[in-house]
Amino acid sequence: MNAEIVAIGSELLLGQIVDTNSAWMAQRLAAVGMNLYYKTIVGDNPERMLETITAAMERSDVVITSGGIGPTQDDLTREIVAKASSRELVLDPELLAQIEARFRRRGFIMTENNDRQAYIPEGSIPVENPNGTAPSFIVEDPRAVVICLPGVPFEMKWLFDNEVIPYLREKFDLSEAIYSRVLKVADMGESGVDDLVGHLIANSNNPTVGVLAHPGQVDVRISAKAASEEEADALISPLEKEVRSLLGDHVFATGEQTMQDVVGELLRSNDLTVASFEGLTGGLVAQHLQEADGMRFLQGTVGQQESTLRAVLAVNGGIDEKAVSATDPETLTGQLAEAVRAGAGADLGLAVLSLPDSGAPAGGSSSSNSENLRAGHTYIAVADSQGISRRAYNFAGPGLPDRTRASLHALDLLRVTILES
Ligand code: ATP
Ligand code: MG
Repeated sequence: MNAEIVAIGSELLLGQIVDTNSAWMAQRLAAVGMNLYYKTIVGDNPERMLETITAAMERSDVVITSGGIGPTQDDLTREIVAKASSRELVLDPELLAQIEARFRRRGFIMTENNDRQAYIPEGSIPVENPNGTAPSFIVEDPRAVVICLPGVPFEMKWLFDNEVIPYLREKFDLSEAIYSRVLKVADMGESGVDDLVGHLIANSNNPTVGVLAHPGQVDVRISAKAASEEEADALISPLEKEVRSLLGDHVFATGEQTMQDVVGELLRSNDLTVASFEGLTGGLVAQHLQEADGMRFLQGTVGQQESTLRAVLAVNGGIDEKAVSATDPETLTGQLAEAVRAGAGADLGLAVLSLPDSGAPAGGSSSSNSENLRAGHTYIAVADSQGISRRAYNFAGPGLPDRTRASLHALDLLRVTILES
C-alpha cells in the first residue's frame, strides 16, 4: 500500500509557513509501515489542486491532504476532492448539528460560511474534529482512499492519531511497522562515516542503514520493518553491533540522547567539575555545559579579545607573550584550558579558540542558519590532572552551523578525555 501527502495552501508555496504537517505525517506513516512515495505542496488554486489530487489518486492507494477545509472562500479542498471523485457536495445534517453545537457551546454566532464546512462529497465518511470547526472526511474512491485533514497542526495531529491511523490499520490490515535506531556520531564527517559503513548502506534491505549529517554530528539510522518491537530488535541488533565496531568511540549517543546528556552523565559518574573558555562560539559551549550539568559547570568565560585572554591567563601567573599574540594558537588554547581549570578550581578546563582566516568577517550574521563552513582554524583543548588533549579543525565561521560544530566538537573532546582518563 502506497500513500501520498498533498499539503494545500498558497502560504506554503510563498514560504510564509513551513510545511511541517507533511514531515510529521511522514514519520507517523513510516511508523505504521505504510510506504510514502510522494509529498506535494499545492496552492489554493482550483485547477492546480484538481490536477494534483487527481494525479495523486491515480498513482497512490491512499491520498492524505492537509489544509483548505475551513470556512473561508479560499478553502477549496472539499469542492476539489468532490470534483476529483465525481461526487456532489452534500449537506451532512449530523456534521451541521455538530458545528452548530460547537458554536453554541462557545457562545459564538455561527455565520453562514460555517455551513460550508458541513458539506462533504456524497457518500464520504465524515470524521468529527473535536478541536476545530472544520470536520474531516474520507472518500473511498475506486482509485484511492482520499483522507482530508485540516491544516492547523494540532487539529491535524489529533485526527491523524485518533482517526486516520486506526482507519488505515483496519482498512489495509497493517500489521508491520518500521522501527528505527539512531546512532549519533561525533568528530567524523559524513564521508568519513560513509567510508566505514557505506557497504552496509549499499547492501541493506531489512534492516536498512542510512546516514544523515548535521553540523558537528552524523546520524546513522538503522530501520527494520517488523511485526513487533522484539522482532525489529532482533533484526537491528546485529547490524548495530557491526556499525559500532566500525565507528568505535565516535558513536556517542543513541536515539533521543544528546551530547549534553552524555557529558552530564560522565561528569556525574566520575564526580568531575568543569570550567570553560570560548571565543567565537559566544557562549554556546557554556550553554551546553550548563545543560549537561549546571551543578558541575563552575565557570565560563566568553570572548577572545586580547584583554580577555590576558585576564584569563593571569590566573596562572605566567603569560606567554608569544602565545598571546597567537603565533602559536595551539599552545595558547592549551594554556587557556589550564588557566580556566585553575581559575575555577575545576577538575577539567575546556577551551575553544577560533581564528577566522583574514578576510573572513569576525562577526556578522551570527544567527544565520544558512551559512556553510567558513575557512579558518578552531583549536580545542581539554586540561585535566594528567595533561592536555587537543584537536584542531579547518573552520571558524561566525554563523550558527560553525558555532554548533565547534561547540559539539568541544564537548566531544571533553567526553573522550573523560572516557580515556
Ligand atoms: P481552518 O479551519 O483553520 O481554516 P484549514 O483546513 O482551512 O483550517 P488552512 O486554512 O489551510 O487550514 O491552514 C490553517 C493554518 O494551519 C495555517 O494558517 C497554518 O498556520 C497552518 N498550516 C496549514 N497547513 C500547514 C502545513 N502543511 N504545515 C504546517 N502548518 C500548516
Ligand atoms: Mg483555512
